[in-house]
Amino acid sequence: SDFLGYQDLLTDREQAALSELRAYLDAEVRPIVNGCWERAEFPMQVIKPLAQLGVYSYSWPELAPFENSAVFRGFVALELSRVDASMATFAGVQTGLVAGSIAVCGSPEQRAEWLPKITSGELVGAFGLTEPLSGSDAARGLQTTARREGDTWVLNGAKRWIGNGTFSDVTIIWARDEADDQVKGFMVLTDTPGYTATKIEGKISLRTVQNADITLENVEVPESMRLQNANSFKDTAKVLRLTRAEVSWSSVGNAVGAYDAAVAYSKSRIQFGKPIGGHQLVQDLLVKSLGNITASLGMVVRVSQLLDEGTQRDEHSALAKTYTTSRMRETVAWCRELFGGNGIALEYNVARHFADAEALYSYEGTQEMNTLIVGRTITGKAAFI
Ligand code: FAD
Repeated sequence: SDFLGYQDLLTDREQAALSELRAYLDAEVRPIVNGCWERAEFPMQVIKPLAQLGVYSYSWPELAPFENSAVFRGFVALELSRVDASMATFAGVQTGLVAGSIAVCGSPEQRAEWLPKITSGELVGAFGLTEPLSGSDAARGLQTTARREGDTWVLNGAKRWIGNGTFSDVTIIWARDEADDQVKGFMVLTDTPGYTATKIEGKISLRTVQNADITLENVEVPESMRLQNANSFKDTAKVLRLTRAEVSWSSVGNAVGAYDAAVAYSKSRIQFGKPIGGHQLVQDLLVKSLGNITASLGMVVRVSQLLDEGTQRDEHSALAKTYTTSRMRETVAWCRELFGGNGIALEYNVARHFADAEALYSYEGTQEMNTLIVGRTITGKAAFI
């Protein structure tokens, strides 16, 4: 599926690490993912091995097992998602949204204290931005409040859709300071009185990810747990720029997972006396899918290179998110179609990719919102304010 050889851009050390990750995922994760998805359970046993493989620490030079590129880290997200988009989502929350918030918005002391706990998997994190009444409009519509009382902050409000939220040890809560009306970030330990998380049931996508509704009733947080460099929503947006690029890689991975399964099925399923891959229209589905994957890979590779070069901007990761998730959505539908009726049965390993595409398409900024971010850059006019 890496038709134009983008992995050749990686160093030998990076390629070896990817092989090691792939071997672990194939042996330990692939066999359990359909069952977890069906039961809507998260396999807690994968958290520590993924930490030992470096998955949560590659982004942070002081903790990474070896020096690596953003393109390599993209391929890590792709490999996780190729097996299961829920694994990529779990890791994306832990390393991108949670460790990312601490790295980007924390003080040097907060970074030194909390990053190792997250990247080692000692603590599981969650990221609470979305609310029942504000999703796309998170900057303006955010209603959770923070009131300072001496060296303590008192948080009140509600959050929705918070990934890892049912079992996180620490949740980054974004709340509006009652004094200056700005959005600020707080590391909230989930056993703090007044903090409640309830699992969202009945999902048809990313069922393995545990999303929660969270309520905060007079939750007290010390000033030392306020992210010291999160002074407005502009700082939150810096975190989202990085994670949107990563979700783009996960989307390519989710498409690749479906494509791998479709290629294998096209060689084994016999109709009209020959493998279905020998029929022209089936080849058309495979070639269109490969075209989408290859074009998407080209885009995410360049966006990651821009990160390493220090020139990645919001509109770059927004274009990657809107483009790759749209191409993924087409691709998983074509791949599912190729299985005929078997394409809706979990055991054929394509239905899960098909269903999970819907959440990837909508979270971390919907297709529309990322389109409008790019549209603002092209025209100089913000169409969403
Ligand atoms: P809305 O904002 O209500 O949008 C509804 C529709 O209106 C969308 O199609 C949207 O594109 C469109 N729309 C809205 N405004 C405009 C406009 N101005 N112009 C054009 N169209 C518009 N959030 C977290 O904080 N932490 C998490 O860990 C997290 N994990 C998630 C995991 C999953 C599986 C899911 C589904 C969501 C998760 N989210 C999380 C929330 C996610 O980021 C939001 O769902 C997303 O931002 C969209 O917000 P919304 O669902 O409120 O939709």
